Amino acid sequence: MKPSDLVLTIGELLGPEDNQFACLEFKDHYNRERVRRKAAERKGLMYVRDDRRALVTMRAQGKAREVPRSTQTTIYPGKVVRSGPGDMPLKPGKYSTKLGGKVAVGDLLGAPIYSLTLIERETCPKTCKLWTTCYGNSMHLAKRYVWDKSLQDAIYWQLTALKAYEKPILLRLHVLGDFPSASAVRWWGEVLDKLPLLHIFGFTSWPWHSRPGKAIDDLRAEQPKRFIIRRSGKQEPWGATVTNQVTADSHIQRETGRAIICPAERTAAGFGPKTAACCAQCGLCYNPKIENEIVFFEHGA
Ligand code: SF4
Ligand code: SF4
Repeated sequence: MKPSDLVLTIGELLGPEDNQFACLEFKDHYNRERVRRKAAERKGLMYVRDDRRALVTMRAQGKAREVPRSTQTTIYPGKVVRSGPGDMPLKPGKYSTKLGGKVAVGDLLGAPIYSLTLIERETCPKTCKLWTTCYGNSMHLAKRYVWDKSLQDAIYWQLTALKAYEKPILLRLHVLGDFPSASAVRWWGEVLDKLPLLHIFGFTSWPWHSRPGKAIDDLRAEQPKRFIIRRSGKQEPWGATVTNQVTADSHIQRETGRAIICPAERTAAGFGPKTAACCAQCGLCYNPKIENEIVFFEHGA
């Protein structure tokens, strides 16, 4: 049986009486997990436990906290760190309400999820449409790593320790920040060559005509299933945008086709069908066949 035969959709798994997502309420979490596990067993499916440490998060309000255009880095300098020996800069997804710990859908079923956070604005193109309203403006707790050789060594060491050469790992780049340079993108290409079961997904604001943008484009073409990076601020296939229209609809009509509203954000906002509470349960952004633009609610006020 292939992993893709074991895909669970939440709708299949849950009855109407249990169809309450953890983002919305977190009481009796243990019992809900037990019900889900039993339902999966009855259907002969693999069950991936929802192991997120926190199930409640701020709801996206469609508003953002704004800083002056002249701001060049994070507004939380105390949260910037340099990686040192023995550091583990990749954070497990289970500590993020939005990400989730292990992939619960699709071909990467069961793969652990990790993420990397860099410094917003310092690593980003000045053309970013969210420069002043960056969601990092409201992330006062996130540890931001300086991109340098010691961070690269620490990342590679951690991925090797996680055995990304013999079991799938899904890495989200970047929670904050962007690819600092074209050489940083090429470095990730080398890592993908060395660790054949590493998969990367995320977003970039670099325009394709910039040097990092071209390098991202090249690596996407080389690794279409393992390096899935969408373009922020673009209403186009493989694009990602934000809206201040918090709506129950699952899709928004665009000239280029139908854009999908991030199911986790819609679920957390309490609107529409509850199809996924986190990236682990959703899989849209790291599915190489889904080229639809993804739409997020503006947040961070
Ligand atoms: S690219 Fe992302 S992290 Fe960087 S300024 Fe824009 S929104 Fe913030
Ligand atoms: S669309 Fe799905 S995979 Fe993408 S950010 Fe939202 S929950 Fe995560």
